[in-house]
Amino acid sequence: THPRRTPLMAGNWKMNLDHLQAIAFVQKLAWSLKDARHDFSTVEVAVFPPFTDLRSVQTLISADKLPITFGAQDVSAHQSGAYTGEISAAFLAQLECQYVIIGHSERRTLHNETDEVVAAKVTAALGHNLVPVICVGETAADLAEHGPSAVPVAQLRAALTGVTNAADFVVAYEPVWAIGSGQAATPEQAEQVASALRAVVNEMLGQDVADKTRILYGGSVKASNIAGFMREPNVDGALIGGASLDIAEFSSIARYQ
Ligand code: PGA
Repeated sequence: THPRRTPLMAGNWKMNLDHLQAIAFVQKLAWSLKDARHDFSTVEVAVFPPFTDLRSVQTLISADKLPITFGAQDVSAHQSGAYTGEISAAFLAQLECQYVIIGHSERRTLHNETDEVVAAKVTAALGHNLVPVICVGETAADLAEHGPSAVPVAQLRAALTGVTNAADFVVAYEPVWAIGSGQAATPEQAEQVASALRAVVNEMLGQDVADKTRILYGGSVKASNIAGFMREPNVDGALIGGASLDIAEFSSIARYQ
């Protein structure tokens, strides 16, 4: 990791933990990090709860000044109006969300989110000063057909269409075949794609943005494999699903050194 980039360990809860469970969980996570004398300036820890938990998590984190940041798992591409069931970037910003995950593979496949929708959501998020965590990644079939970098690179190019070099965003490389499968990519595979993604940022937005943008690896990250990813120069943290729901496991991922 470049000295300009603070590693980010981001816990994607998916559709787990209601707001009462979220309060207990975040409190215990904060204790666990404190017991470990976790230094937030060295590794940032973020949680991504379901929408219905966000107000509770915000209240707890701000009242107790917990060293944990948070974000939402999705956002509407629209500003306001007749969009039943959707949540706007303005609402998330008002809740002090710092981040929002955009284009997770589960949204791309289960909710038919196209590259165009992802790009519109990225623009909507940036319009309200949310930091989008832009997810890209290839399926096993893509990997066999196009090799490792082609699909994630094309997805990132599309997602950054409307982005300027003033924007702050995070990229998460998550091979679809590695998500929830127990079959993580190797650190070498993650580095190869992460460096290709950084080259895209460099080409589209310049060296300065490429140097400061954090690129995460995601897909079956655990306490036992995180250190290998973190040794790679272009991997600046992880997006963690299953293992982020276990406090001991997640806090040891945050202490990967
Ligand atoms: P996993 O999920 O860590 O359970 O593989 C990662 C993700 O979907 O973000």
